[in-house]
Amino acid sequence: MYEVEYRVDCESCGGDALCTAGASPAGGQVEWSYDVSCAVCGPGTIACGSGPVPADLRARLLARHGPVHLRLDDPSAGAVTVMKVLRAELGGSPAAAKATLGLIRAGGYAGVRAEVEVLALRLRAAGAGAGVTEGPRPPG
Ligand SMILES: [Zn+2]
Repeated sequence: MYEVEYRVDCESCGGDALCTAGASPAGGQVEWSYDVSCAVCGPGTIACGSGPVPADLRARLLARHGPVHLRLDDPSAGAVTVMKVLRAELGGSPAAAKATLGLIRAGGYAGVRAEVEVLALRLRAAGAGAGVTEGPRPPG
């Protein structure tokens, strides 16, 4: 679980509370949650779900942990196979999938770790070797 912590106003008493939010790959999809801990009201979950990470959480995770890159380990993996997975996971047109494939091959496809890990998992399941590269954009 990649998490971020930040202060929020408690929804119940309006006091100072600590929010712990994060996303992780679970069961082949991204699961995310916001948990809050208030000194007065105690712990509670504000929201949780699976699928696309909410934009604000995504931005916080990227700011805190930085992006990871998707890597294709098997250059011979068929473009059709990869694009099929991309369209199933990300939606969009065939042209968009093709553009994303180009971005991945150039080492420029990055996102929140849980998202990229799930995408790599889907690609491996489809027979296209893929993994996650930490840190800044790899050379080449
Ligand atoms: Zn409270």
